[in-house]
Amino acid sequence: MSAKFDFHVHTYYSDGGSGPVEMVEAAEARGLEAVAITDHGPELHVGVPREKLAPMLQDIEIARGDAGIPVLAGIEANVMDESGRVDVDEEFAKKLDIRIVSIHTLGNLIDPSEVAREYLKRMTKAITHRKFEVLAHPFFYHQNLLPYLSREEIENFVKLAVYRGVAMELNMKYKAPDDEFLKLCLREGLKFSIGSDAHTPAEVGRIDWALATLRRVGAKREDLILDDFLR
Ligand SMILES: [Zn+2]
Ligand SMILES: [Zn+2]
Repeated sequence: MSAKFDFHVHTYYSDGGSGPVEMVEAAEARGLEAVAITDHGPELHVGVPREKLAPMLQDIEIARGDAGIPVLAGIEANVMDESGRVDVDEEFAKKLDIRIVSIHTLGNLIDPSEVAREYLKRMTKAITHRKFEVLAHPFFYHQNLLPYLSREEIENFVKLAVYRGVAMELNMKYKAPDDEFLKLCLREGLKFSIGSDAHTPAEVGRIDWALATLRRVGAKREDLILDDFLR
């Protein structure tokens, strides 16, 4: 399966080290078919400050103008609390090509099964109420939370994601999610995204684990969201 793309890249607008132009150049140099710039939402401590959202979009626009591959403007929104509220408002979200969602803060829970249930609850609310194209590093919060959830809980979540059109990301930084989850997603007809979670140009498009994993679980190019963005 040949489909090289990277829909999870950070720049210095959040906690990355380089600008959109450099990250896009790196994506092109690595032979990717498309790339998305997805900095952290404003309420994460390293997130893009709200007043920098407009300049960030302008910079992505400049990067796109110079690029020979499609460049998507995106964000990695944070689910902030038990209501499923996210830190990117709807008006701004409409200006983006791709919206990815994740959880980076979950309160003071320690017991992994409590953490897993809280993650599931919050993410269920977030994707029910708001439109996201991708769930970034699904069920990874300090560790893989999937073993702490029941088969039924996971299946219900996957069915909701199918209904809501949310793809699951294969995340290079955390090597998540696991094969069993990916196979279930595949059976239910869910699509996949690939994210390096790069914070430096050298990390952009380093997606060998994701491609090998997709091959191993039997995913094909049509199981990826890439072509939806190339039309
Ligand atoms: Zn993240
Ligand atoms: Zn990230």
